[in-house]
Amino acid sequence: MMTKLQGLEDAIKKCRDCPLHLTRKNAVPGEGLENADIIFIGEAPGRNEDEAGRPFIGQAGKFLDFALESVGLKRTGIYITNVVKCRPPENRDPRDEEIETCSHYLDEQIAIIKPKVLCTLGKFATSYILSSYGFDIESISKIHGRVYASPVAMVKIIPLYHPAATIYNPELKEYFLRDMKIIIQHAKL
Ligand code: URA
Repeated sequence: MMTKLQGLEDAIKKCRDCPLHLTRKNAVPGEGLENADIIFIGEAPGRNEDEAGRPFIGQAGKFLDFALESVGLKRTGIYITNVVKCRPPENRDPRDEEIETCSHYLDEQIAIIKPKVLCTLGKFATSYILSSYGFDIESISKIHGRVYASPVAMVKIIPLYHPAATIYNPELKEYFLRDMKIIIQHAKL
C-alpha cells in the first residue's frame, strides 16, 4: 500500500499544472523519511536532478551531504525537497507564477511529515516559507542561522545559505557548517 507521502510524490511526478512540465525530463518530488524531524528545502531542480528525478545530487548536493554527515545526519533520516518541483530551463530562477502554482505540493509535504524544523536553503525557499508563516523577509546574509519559531504552527524555520552559494564563495562553507549545528540542536528539542 502506498503511504500518503508516496501518493503525493506520485502526483508530483505526473503534474502538468505549469509549462515547466513541457521541458522537464523528470519532476523531482523530494525524498527521505516520511516522519522526518527536519525538511531541507531548496529552490528547484537543476540539470542532474532533472535527469535522475532526485533532489540535490549535483555539486551542491555533494556539499549538502558533507554538511549533513558533519552533524551525524544521513539522507535517509531527513526529507529533502524544493519549492518548485520541475527544472526551470537553463537553470533560470523560478518565476513567481511557477512558485504560486507548485508550492501547494510543498505545503502538503510539510503537513504530512510534520517536521520540527524547516531548513530553507537560499533566497527562494526562505522567502516562500517565511512569508507563508507570517514573518518578514530579509536577506539571507543577515538571517542565516536565525531561528524563527512559529507560535501557530509547531515548527521552527531556520534559513541557511544555498549550498550552491558555498561553491562560488567557499567562505560561506564555514557559516553553513556552523548553521547546521543549530539545525540539529533544534531538531532534538
Ligand atoms: N539546487 C536546488 O535548489 N535544488 C536541487 O535539488 C538541486 C540544486
